[in-house]
Amino acid sequence: CGIVAYIGHREAYPVVLKGLKRLEYRGYDSAGIALMHEGNLNIYKQQGKVSELEQVTQGQNLQGGIGMGHTRWATHGAPNNVNAHPHTGSNGKLAIIHNGIIENYSSLKVELARKGHQFKSETDTEVLIHFIEDIQTHEKCSLEEAVRLALTQVVGAYAIVVMDEKDPSTLVAARKGSPLVVGIGKGEYFLASDATPIIEYTNEVVYLNDFEIAVIRNNTLQIKNTQDEVSNPYIQVLDMEL
Ligand code: GLU
Repeated sequence: CGIVAYIGHREAYPVVLKGLKRLEYRGYDSAGIALMHEGNLNIYKQQGKVSELEQVTQGQNLQGGIGMGHTRWATHGAPNNVNAHPHTGSNGKLAIIHNGIIENYSSLKVELARKGHQFKSETDTEVLIHFIEDIQTHEKCSLEEAVRLALTQVVGAYAIVVMDEKDPSTLVAARKGSPLVVGIGKGEYFLASDATPIIEYTNEVVYLNDFEIAVIRNNTLQIKNTQDEVSNPYIQVLDMEL
């Protein structure tokens, strides 16, 4: 039900955790976080409150300048630790957080299972990350191209953020039907379901449109759509008080 992500010169964990707390008003049943540190993804997730996730992360490796966090409002699969996001593909190198519903997940799941994919959770979201992984493997394409190709075949609503150990300096995000905002700071970018986690850092934001994909790396933001048409980000300056 809520998404926060960060890429930049700060440590991602405190930014993402604080952002998740700011989104708590939306309601949720579990929370999780993924952090990229030295090319490795570290993922922590927990049923219950963000404060319970915080307890689970105590003493763990919380380093990394790229991270993403999620609060879940279960639609497919009970609220529990396994069904909490982030979800990963077969090889554990790809991770996703998702708000919304992938309506055609069961037919995709049957097809992927036939190809040997094994699923740990009951969620529609885990199917999407396996689908992206499958495309990446077979098309030998970039992360953003695999996300784009997958989304052309997805029916439903989504706001997603994807991280990849094979492309460890990049965040890829996309939306259709569920809101997603990009915050543009100085040498840093934020992603969130609404601007509340962002405004303490920057008031320059880009509201993604349906079918748009944001690719953030090397301190640049590129926006394209699922038809692979690149567009110039429309930056709005928010007049908001904390
Ligand atoms: N459909 C996904 C799930 O059940 C995402 C739910 C949400 O928007 O939090 O895990």
